[in-house]
Amino acid sequence: MLNTSFFPASVPPRPAGRYAHIVLLRETDSYSLFQTDGELNTARVHAGVSQAELITRITMFKRKQTTPERLIGRELLRRYGLVSGEQSDPQDKGKKADERGVAVDRAGLPICDYNVDFCKQCPDCISYGFAIGDAGSEKSKVYSDTAYSLSAFDASHEAFTLNAPYEGGTMSRKGEVTSRINEQDHVRPQTLFPAIITLRDVTAPLFLYVLGNVLRARRYGAQTTRTGTMTNHVLGIVLADGEICSNLHLTQRLYDALIEREAISLAQPVAVPVALDAARTLLPTLVAEDRVAVSQQLQAAELAAFLDDLGARTRGEDSMRELLQAAARDSASYHAAYVQKKGKK
Ligand SMILES: [Zn+2]
Repeated sequence: MLNTSFFPASVPPRPAGRYAHIVLLRETDSYSLFQTDGELNTARVHAGVSQAELITRITMFKRKQTTPERLIGRELLRRYGLVSGEQSDPQDKGKKADERGVAVDRAGLPICDYNVDFCKQCPDCISYGFAIGDAGSEKSKVYSDTAYSLSAFDASHEAFTLNAPYEGGTMSRKGEVTSRINEQDHVRPQTLFPAIITLRDVTAPLFLYVLGNVLRARRYGAQTTRTGTMTNHVLGIVLADGEICSNLHLTQRLYDALIEREAISLAQPVAVPVALDAARTLLPTLVAEDRVAVSQQLQAAELAAFLDDLGARTRGEDSMRELLQAAARDSASYHAAYVQKKGKK
């Protein structure tokens, strides 16, 4: 089980060296688009640490990873009545606020409007942070970084022509061909992105809140209602007094390990079970190389038991509500201790 005594009882105002890492292998389950300006994001990097040749990898920027996870959590906070479903209305002069100065709806629920008007006190605002111009900001306690595809761009993408045909199913009408044809590079299904999410100095309930979002988020990238599904395989949870390796290092070392097993070739997708097994075997070595003091490294059967137990709690509405309420108590007390004061000045 997870060693909850590692986590602070309340979120401290200053960094206190408690790093909880969630080590993942993100796997695309359908064609996905991780792009800016109409092109897939890529990077030219070394294939491995010992495999020195340069390859092009597809990259998944950090916002492409955290935004869907945040939104899933925020949806649950509204579903279970911890924040209001209303939007903030800048025109409303008679805005109601509770005794803490937090804008509330008629039912007294805090209004938290993503990237518009953050409530500064919910589990989302306190864990992932917020910035509202000169009205204050809170640093994210959830650290993430660009993730790189394990396999090379050539093996990981496909160019698609997206057609928008006429109702008759044809691409032309009265002899004229529609211009609604758009070619785009998509990430192939079963492309793997090793990724580490690091949470600094959060309480156990806030850790479970973020972990729950990662386990629940399914849709990443553009056009997420029709494609872009992803599964996050948790390889391990590492509780330590410092940060462990980067996503790129994890990706390159995993690449090396798969070369050793003769399980990877530049032109082929990697077999997912083989990659998962190699990553699980590799993780303790990587953590040991980072020279951090590890309080707990939850892996294999122990990790599976913990995730099963968490699953049992998130499957019930009452226990789900309890998990969210515990996270909301911790974020609200942080708000009362450090955010509210800052706002008063
Ligand atoms: Zn909020």
